[in-house]
Amino acid sequence: MKTETIAIHAGNHVDEATRAVIQPIIMSTTFERGEDGGFPAGYIYSRSANPNRHALEHLLAKLEGGVEAASFSSGNAAGMSVFQSLEPGTHIIAPDDMYHGLRNQLKNLFAGILTFDFIDVNDTDVLQQHIKPETGLIWIETPSNPLLKITDIKKVVAIAKAKGIKVLCDNTFATPICQRPLDLGVDIVMHSATKYFGGHSDLMGGALITGETNDWWTKIRQVQEMGGAIPSPMDCYYLVRSIKTLPYRVKGHVQNAQLLAEYLEQYPNVEQVMYPGLSSHPQHEIAKDQMLAFGGMLSFIIKGDENDTHNIINKLKLFIKATSLGGVESLIEHRATVEGPDTKTPRNLLRVSVGLEHIDDLIADMEQALTL
Ligand SMILES: *Cc1c(COP(=O)(O)O)cnc(C)c1O
Repeated sequence: MKTETIAIHAGNHVDEATRAVIQPIIMSTTFERGEDGGFPAGYIYSRSANPNRHALEHLLAKLEGGVEAASFSSGNAAGMSVFQSLEPGTHIIAPDDMYHGLRNQLKNLFAGILTFDFIDVNDTDVLQQHIKPETGLIWIETPSNPLLKITDIKKVVAIAKAKGIKVLCDNTFATPICQRPLDLGVDIVMHSATKYFGGHSDLMGGALITGETNDWWTKIRQVQEMGGAIPSPMDCYYLVRSIKTLPYRVKGHVQNAQLLAEYLEQYPNVEQVMYPGLSSHPQHEIAKDQMLAFGGMLSFIIKGDENDTHNIINKLKLFIKATSLGGVESLIEHRATVEGPDTKTPRNLLRVSVGLEHIDDLIADMEQALTL
């Protein structure tokens, strides 16, 4: 079946007990034993499994073309479960512009347990040089945050596979509507469900989706169940509900982002626009090859300094100055401020999560804010 159909049906079924068309929310933390002492419906205790989480995980697996999914209370909890599933001493190769929250997690919580190098994973020579006998995982994130750099997924997978190294792709920016990393050979896909999956800036969640069940996945399942960083039945319900419209929302985000990127690119006071859908993007050809659509995120660098970026943000009326992404409302932020003092992000860069407002209104707002 096609993605639009999966999004609507894979996470929902008519409730047998009540004939309710929408699956009810089961808040119960515990489930009654049968007379034989067993659990007739397969549920025991909600940290292990819950009907709403089960529905969400089934939906996520189908959406990414995987065999199983594990959902978490946030994207960072999903990432942390991956790091906790690795043998102590494992070496991880991660991108130099990895999502800062996960980079900080590795540096602050896993130093001394795991080893890691943050490099340009897209540079084949650099990548080869950093592979060690104990390298167990190459982490990629494409398009990257906030520079919208593209990693050639098939190229990294080929290098990793030759050495028996696993590859994980953070697919948060792209969503399965724009990119399907499992089809390109990646072992596990990671998501912050807080972003496009939730889509309305009102819940937090995370997910891992695997292409096969193996020892590594069993360990991840153990971390999920024993660690307990699971989403509530309520959040699972809201995610299933939101994902029904994900394909259409993402189409709208992509359409608006392309038009806003094209508008910004021709604006005199804009130095550079980073959007993989622009032919000026240095990796536009790779993006065209591996993506189904170019996503709803863009960054741009203005001809000016940090102060000018703050002036622009403050003049905007529709774009809300806030971090995060993937909601229906457009957001803009000065990324270097968010990422802290050790960031390499240019100080005159603004990152935009392009929302679903009418593009004419978005461009008009940008126009009045950019005009000095
Ligand atoms: C937001 C985000 C995360 C972290 O997810 P949370 O839900 O905030 O914990 C990870 N990766 C990317 C690319 C993100 O944008």
